Amino acid sequence: MNAPLNDRGVIHRYRRFLPVTDATPVVSLSEGSTPLLHSPRLSERTGAEVYLKFEGLNPTGSFKDRGMTVAISKAVEHGARTVICASTGNTSAAAAAYAARAGVQCAVILPAGKIAVGKLAQAFVYGAKVVAIRGNFDDALRIVREFGGVEGVAIVNSINPDRIEGQKTASFEVIDDLGDAPDLHFLPVGNAGNITAYWKGYKEFHAAGRSTRLPRMVGFQAAGSAPIFRGAPVERPETVATAIRIGNPASWQGASDAVSESGGCIDIVSDEEILAAQAWLASNEGIFVEPASAASVAGLLKCLSGQPCSKCPLATALRPGARIVLTVTGHGLKDTETALTFGGFVPKEADATLEAVRAVLEGN
Ligand SMILES: *Cc1c(COP(=O)(O)O)cnc(C)c1O
Repeated sequence: MNAPLNDRGVIHRYRRFLPVTDATPVVSLSEGSTPLLHSPRLSERTGAEVYLKFEGLNPTGSFKDRGMTVAISKAVEHGARTVICASTGNTSAAAAAYAARAGVQCAVILPAGKIAVGKLAQAFVYGAKVVAIRGNFDDALRIVREFGGVEGVAIVNSINPDRIEGQKTASFEVIDDLGDAPDLHFLPVGNAGNITAYWKGYKEFHAAGRSTRLPRMVGFQAAGSAPIFRGAPVERPETVATAIRIGNPASWQGASDAVSESGGCIDIVSDEEILAAQAWLASNEGIFVEPASAASVAGLLKCLSGQPCSKCPLATALRPGARIVLTVTGHGLKDTETALTFGGFVPKEADATLEAVRAVLEGN
């Protein structure tokens, strides 16, 4: 049933740890096995060894593909003819692509006007039916949940446990690349499925004897949509980082457990810090990520700037030789508009002569 060229995705690589059987048709686009890039400049600034797990290099440009290969494979196994999701953008891109691959219908419910244009284009081009609601992500998810009982329809949001199962493979890869778990793992938090999944993955590999330790999990929410940090749902979440613009996370409990069990914390970063980190990462390390992804980098830079919060585990964990992994969750090409606007980037024009071009390059 599995075509040979499909044999490179996360189900193939970590089948033994995933809820699949020989009866599961593997729907894959060769997701996962993303690079864990050493960051010389962040390492220098922290005195630790800092690595970036670049999830933008998945087939649709975000980590959502890891969960989607499992969720869509299982949905097809159970006879689904339509998959549906609420999305801030990347879930819909992944759902639409994997549904196309599987030959099933895909419906996506989005908050109108709040989706980065690259992600919206993906949903349409992969052939999804797109409905933009006059409401936010939390409203979209409420509507999707109501489709739960409909015959032949499978929900592929991260409330579907198969998504979490697939996403935990990122932790497996980190351990396989480093030879052990890191001391700290930083990542952005929106609906909180991913921090839940990473922690599950770290615990499973540890229990299987594949690592000697567990990392502290450190999650960053955008200051304008930080329900977990603040301890209450946010009715009108706002942030330029649309992928984490969520006021009432579905995996709130999972995130709380991850930070309390691991001795980590949830902190916040401002939109300015997020955009500055995005620009810093691109121009200093050559890695272009979308704004939400930069929350992990913004978080590390914030911690380094001298005011760690009282619960911050960095004070003890940040020592020479410590290993810190930052997940950067999605590709920068998803949302070029934000990057261009924030940077004020407009090409300078010149006459078509060497002198004119040199004058511009030299700033005259
Ligand atoms: C979905 C997403 C997030 C947030 O992940 P959660 O599992 O919702 O916490 C962060 N960054 C990007 C790029 C995403 O697509």
